[in-house]
Amino acid sequence: MVKTPKKCDNIYSVIARKPRMRLSQMLFVTLREDPAEAEIPSHKLLLRAGYIRRIGSGIYAYLPLMWRVLQKVSQIVREEMNAAGAQECLLPQLQPSELWKESGRWETYTKAEGIMFSLIDRQDRELGLGPTHEEVITTVAKDMIRSYRQLPVNLYQIQTKFRDEIRPRFGLMRGREFIMKDAYSFNEDEASLQRSYDAMDQAYRNIISRCGLAYRAVEADSGAIGGSASQEFMILAEAGEDEVLYTEDGKYAANVEKAVSLPKDVKTSPFTTYEKKETPDCNTIEKLCQFLECSPTNIVKNVLYEAVYDNAKTVLVLVSIRGDQEINEVKLNNELVKLASNYQASTLLALTVPDENAQKKWAKKSLPVGYISPNLEDDYIASGEYIEGKFLRIVDKTAVDLENFVTGADETGYHIVGASWNKDFKLPQLICDIRTAMIGDRAVHDTSQTLASARGIEVGHIFQLGTKYSEAMGATFTDENGEEKPIVMGCYGVGVSRLAQAAVEQSYDKDGIIWPVAIAPYQVIIIVPNINDQNQIEVAQNLYDKLNKMGVETLLDDRDERAGVKFKDADLIGIPYRVVTGRSLKSGKVEVVTRKSKESQEIEVKNLVETLHNWVEQGKVNH
Ligand code: ATP
Ligand code: MG
Repeated sequence: MVKTPKKCDNIYSVIARKPRMRLSQMLFVTLREDPAEAEIPSHKLLLRAGYIRRIGSGIYAYLPLMWRVLQKVSQIVREEMNAAGAQECLLPQLQPSELWKESGRWETYTKAEGIMFSLIDRQDRELGLGPTHEEVITTVAKDMIRSYRQLPVNLYQIQTKFRDEIRPRFGLMRGREFIMKDAYSFNEDEASLQRSYDAMDQAYRNIISRCGLAYRAVEADSGAIGGSASQEFMILAEAGEDEVLYTEDGKYAANVEKAVSLPKDVKTSPFTTYEKKETPDCNTIEKLCQFLECSPTNIVKNVLYEAVYDNAKTVLVLVSIRGDQEINEVKLNNELVKLASNYQASTLLALTVPDENAQKKWAKKSLPVGYISPNLEDDYIASGEYIEGKFLRIVDKTAVDLENFVTGADETGYHIVGASWNKDFKLPQLICDIRTAMIGDRAVHDTSQTLASARGIEVGHIFQLGTKYSEAMGATFTDENGEEKPIVMGCYGVGVSRLAQAAVEQSYDKDGIIWPVAIAPYQVIIIVPNINDQNQIEVAQNLYDKLNKMGVETLLDDRDERAGVKFKDADLIGIPYRVVTGRSLKSGKVEVVTRKSKESQEIEVKNLVETLHNWVEQGKVNH
């Protein structure tokens, strides 16, 4: 006969189930000083307040307070993804190299970008640690999706990703092991993909707003795949690694990697006739303009790049651009990837400006650096099996319409002035937009608007992939007419751990973190100023029990510490509401301080639970 266990017949199970939210019993260590390893406020604060500890470069332990924040962010993400009709799953982090070879990304990810950690197992099989999961999910889709009737579907997971970042930094902002929510939609055509993408766009807006953060959705670079829409969600903060260009009318916002604009007007060239001029010590635009008394808009600047493709072929790229403009290497990179097949390659591995040492590898004679013209002779390049013998010449749109321009004479110490395209210099065939849009430029959609600039932290990226992976990996379905087609895909990522830290970067003061209520590790902290005062302890204990019972997540600071230390710690860890069972108890009240505004008020003990419950519920929606 099976004995039904009596409720609570084991005292230890009761204790074990009781959450430990008394600071005296928690692993709780705060630091008074800023740790030397941290550069930005959020990183310093998370370390000081005991949320995270560094274990290695870009590798962090999420301590109990942090883990609560991460779980809250994850839960908000989960709820919004589910509401948008996506289904949660969990994919493997160990990924066989074959999948990545099928998609053609193994070489790029392990060698070129080198972002993927790879390893060889005891059976001599190559594996990668998942930096992202397109390959795995496409394999699943290939296996399971047969018919249009199964579409559309959207699968997501919340999981640790591994990326061997070149510069891991700023704590959780750019880790080598971090938590991401990634989702992948499978659609039958572009129109259906657009609907899935729009649903994700809305879900992302909801997620970030519910986390209590101010953000901007911006147009993003979609790599060399071309054409497909891509949007990033930026948390605006000084410490952001990304630059966002936007217009005040709210109609345009883009990552600088992608942004377009109208360049400033050209000043009329002071030169009217072609002439070769001696220009000693003029190897920069600034020096040249001073010497020739002209505007940088009169100059065609020529910059040499070395592009290495995945078949080891090196192509020397000569980019001509207007003197006042900067080259956007993301745009240039995308153009060069598109040209890969011209060089029997499939993708680009590296793009660099070759220094003198690098030049020695392929230059027959020393280059007139600083004095190069758009027509620099191909015979500077020594022939070699892996070297393309001709320069790939690209001209940015800004340089195409220049008249009477100044440019290098291919001879150190000399420039040409008053030059024209096609008369004096051959206009390169490849005309592209490869300039960096700049603050103050006029906007394309409305020339009365100028671009302003802000720093942002990218917390999400949604992207229309199209059929890149499904075609490469053979993930097809049969449409209504019985025709076999590649599945159209979208992918959508949220940096869960980055978002949690970005929240701190957006919300702190000199005393510490100010968590938005929705993602705070606890919503209330009760401080007992004097733990030897029985009344203070009893009231606190009672409120603590009641609040937690009501679902208000409450910490109890019952440590044997000075009251001042406890107040400082409460401010540092950033709990939205602080309750103090101090002197006001005499009149049946406790002091309640709102962390964000520092406003303090006395509230009757008997009303406290209900009041805080209401505040917390409101605080989760209004920030
Ligand atoms: P970034 O441009 O910052 O390198 P990414 O474009 O490589 O990011 P995605 O592949 O789009 O990033 O990943 C989705 C999300 O994961 C990003 O929007 C970001 O929030 C987060 N993320 C990416 N790399 C890291 C990292 N190294 N550490 C923490 N979060 C990251
Ligand atoms: Mg990105």
